[in-house]
Amino acid sequence: MGGLTAGARRVGVFGGTFDPVHVGHLIIAEEARHALGLDAVLFVPARRSPLKAHEPRADDAARVAMLEGAIAGQPAFTVHRVDLDRPHPSYTVDTLAHLRAELDTVTDWWFVLGADALADLPAWHAPGRVVALARLAVFDRPGAAPDMAALAAAVPGLAGRVDRVPAPLVGISATDLRQRVAAGRPIRYQVPAAVEAYVHAHGLYGSGGAPDAGGRATDGRDAGGDGTGGRAPGRGNDR
Ligand code: ATP
Repeated sequence: MGGLTAGARRVGVFGGTFDPVHVGHLIIAEEARHALGLDAVLFVPARRSPLKAHEPRADDAARVAMLEGAIAGQPAFTVHRVDLDRPHPSYTVDTLAHLRAELDTVTDWWFVLGADALADLPAWHAPGRVVALARLAVFDRPGAAPDMAALAAAVPGLAGRVDRVPAPLVGISATDLRQRVAAGRPIRYQVPAAVEAYVHAHGLYGSGGAPDAGGRATDGRDAGGDGTGGRAPGRGNDR
C-alpha cells in the first residue's frame, strides 16, 4: 500500500476473483466511490474460492496485472494483495479484519458486492462478523434478486448495514468473457483495452493469439467453451 490509503477515512473493499476484471466491476467501484464518498477503493483479488467449483483460469500474477492495467488512471483505486499473500482460502471476514488492523486511519468501511454475491451471504464464513466489520455496498446485477427479509433473518446484524447503490445494470460476467475468449468471440469494450491486450498477449482463457480487427483470434483455432457450464452454484464473495 502506498500513499493512497495514508489518512484515508472512508474505504471500500472490493473482493472478487477478477478473472478477468471487466467494466461491470469498474462501474460499480466508481459508483461506490462517488455515492459513498470513498477516499479509496481496494480491489482485493481472491487467491481461491471456497465456494466456486473451479479455480481461476488466470494465475495470481495475471489477474493482478490485468487489475493494475484496468484501474490505471483512477487514483482512488488500488489493488491490495492481502488475500494473495496469505494462506488460502480467503474468507472475507479475515480479509476485513486484516485490513482494519493494517489501515488504522479508516473510520468507515464498506464491502462492495453485487446482488448475486449478497444472496450467498448466509453461506459465507461468519457472515454476522462480516457485516459488523463493514457496511455492505450492494449493486443490482441482472438475474439477481436477493430476498432481503430472508437475508436479514439469516444474518445477525445485517439490518441497517446495507447500502443499495444505484448504477447502470451491466450484464457482463467473467464467466461469459472466458467463454467468449475460448470461442474466439470479442471481449472488446467489455473489458478495458489493457485487459483485452493482456488476455491475447498471454494466451489466457484459451485465446489463440492476437485478435484481428474484428476481435477474433488470428490462428483460426476453435477452442470451444471453457466447459464450466457457466456459474458455479453457491458462488459468493467468500470468493
Ligand atoms: P464469474 O463469472 O467468474 O463468477 P464475476 O463476473 O461475477 O465472475 P467476480 O470477480 O466473481 O466476477 O465478482 C466480484 C464482485 O463483483 C462480486 O461481488 C460480483 O457480484 C460483482 N460483479 C461482477 N460483475 C458484476 C456486474 N456485471 N454487475 C454487478 N456486480 C458485478
